[in-house]
Amino acid sequence: MSVRKIVLSPDPVLEQPCEEVTVFDKKLAKLLDDMYETMIEFDGVGLAAPQIGISKRIAVVDIDDGSGTIELINPVLLSNAGEQTGPEGCLSFPGLFGEVSRPYKVKVQAQNRRGKMFTIEAEDFMARAILHEMDHLDGVLFTSKVTRYLEEDELEEVES
Ligand SMILES: [Zn+2]
Repeated sequence: MSVRKIVLSPDPVLEQPCEEVTVFDKKLAKLLDDMYETMIEFDGVGLAAPQIGISKRIAVVDIDDGSGTIELINPVLLSNAGEQTGPEGCLSFPGLFGEVSRPYKVKVQAQNRRGKMFTIEAEDFMARAILHEMDHLDGVLFTSKVTRYLEEDELEEVES
């Protein structure tokens, strides 16, 4: 495994729709392992392939709540419900945080690293993290959804 370089905004690769994954091989497994290592190295809760310069529909999410790492390949939103508003950040925007409203619950279908289809239901922060990463795969950045940017002192309140 190796830590990849994070693509910072602005960069065209962050703002274009990614391509479907059609080949599930060792190269894909290696990429997923690298994405995981990169996410951990930079203390993120999720990472999408375009954030390491690869325009493919691949994301990893791990919100460190004991539910483990979720690998999403070609994810599709099946349904959503409710609403939540909370602080959000992005490894491609170091030091930038803002309030974003998203659905509270989601049901997503995706493929795993072997190409097997699965569905996952998530709520609260996990739903937020999944939706943030899925947005990346469509070239949508969280800054387009921020209703209010957060100052450093407001953030400390959130974190504590
Ligand atoms: Zn992001």
